[in-house]
Amino acid sequence: LTGGLEAAWNKLKGEEVLTKENIVEPMRDIRRALLEADVSLPVVRRFVQAVSDQAVGVGLIRGVKPDQQLVKTVHGELVKLMGGDVSELVFAKSGPTVILLAGLQGVGKTTVCAKLAFYLKKQGKSCMLVAGDVYRPAAIDQLVILGEQVDVPVYTEGTGVKPAEIARKGLAEAKRKNIDVVIVDTAGRLQIDKAMMDELKEVKRALNPTEVLLVVDAMTGQEAAALVTTFNLEIGITGAILTKLDGDSRGGAALSVKEVSGKPIKLVGRGERMEDLEPFYPDRMAGRILGMGDVLSFVEKAQEVMRQEDAEELQKKIMSAQFDFNDFLKQTQTVARMGSMSRVIGMIPGMGKITPAQVREAEKSLKLMEGMIEAMTPEEREKPELLAESPARRKRIAQDSGKTEQQVSQLVAQLFQMRVRMKNLMGVMEGGSIPALSN
Ligand code: GDP
Ligand code: MG
Repeated sequence: LTGGLEAAWNKLKGEEVLTKENIVEPMRDIRRALLEADVSLPVVRRFVQAVSDQAVGVGLIRGVKPDQQLVKTVHGELVKLMGGDVSELVFAKSGPTVILLAGLQGVGKTTVCAKLAFYLKKQGKSCMLVAGDVYRPAAIDQLVILGEQVDVPVYTEGTGVKPAEIARKGLAEAKRKNIDVVIVDTAGRLQIDKAMMDELKEVKRALNPTEVLLVVDAMTGQEAAALVTTFNLEIGITGAILTKLDGDSRGGAALSVKEVSGKPIKLVGRGERMEDLEPFYPDRMAGRILGMGDVLSFVEKAQEVMRQEDAEELQKKIMSAQFDFNDFLKQTQTVARMGSMSRVIGMIPGMGKITPAQVREAEKSLKLMEGMIEAMTPEEREKPELLAESPARRKRIAQDSGKTEQQVSQLVAQLFQMRVRMKNLMGVMEGGSIPALSN
């Protein structure tokens, strides 16, 4: 997917605005890329239409190139498609919360039971597991072992009892024990069949569950849309859990769930360990699907932080090599507002070569500089040349700020280097070339 989308973006390099015409090709690539990621065709169609409608004619923000603007729009629509914000689990107002898990065989239901108990225990809730997969003794043993691992009681009956009956008894037991959350495991089949659906309906009737979560393997691909639709129509789900996201699937299934069922993905499994379950973040998933590194976060942060006039003025000065100590201060404050410098630098693709130690060093020297700049007169801040020419001025600043003359000289030299470096940095924010950070 990554390759496809990158090709789409590259086509926009050099364009000034997004138009109906110049997004045709990139949108075609996006469409193909989504299909390759196993998103179902109707979902792709609606998605591409929504993005095209949105992208054209939007005022571009200074410093953000059209290709980045399109990334942002695609990202925003992907997030919307997956439900926008995190969808929390719902808990019963009184009595135990009952979570019923459903899904095909091998998708990770039994594992999810224990992971979920582990997850909820950390939030201070007492849990109980109910072994509702009665067709293989091994399935019951598996749940018992996992229950022991996370130190949660498991309610079992032998293989001769009907799942709905086990569910009912398990729930009664949980009520007696004042358990907060009851998680019910069920049997899956390799394919959807009537017997499985009938059984699930019966179990659901017996429990009146708070949540019915469909467990979906992230590798499911194209069939995810049909699968989710069927389960939702037949038994009615309240949400989904996407498992095996640690594999190399691009997550096409994630895109279809909400779109076809109206129900959100609530949690994701990212591995076989008990701690590998976490809330589903639509924005992160969109990032994964886009495979664009964190270009987006960087664009967004730049927008938030650099108020347009500031950016415009700064850019003008940088272009004319007028960057002075006032701008320098403003710039360091901007960087501070953008979070630690290491995070900002980490967001720029291709900048991975900078070590954390180098970043810490840079942050330290920024602090040091601020003290010296504060000791300058307004005139000196505006005309660094004055300091370059006058040792007496440098001496005074050194004394006032408690630094050595050598440190002041270094700072002045650095400002002139900084003019070059800032120019390069602005180049990055415009989506241009990535500078090698001199040191
Ligand atoms: P069930 O048939 O739906 O109950 O599936 P299981 O819970 O028995 O899981 C089937 C297999 O998938 C097991 O080997 C699990 O360890 C594995 N599995 C479950 N969830 C994940 C996950 O998030 N990542 C990975 N890599 N494996 C998983
Ligand atoms: Mg199972």
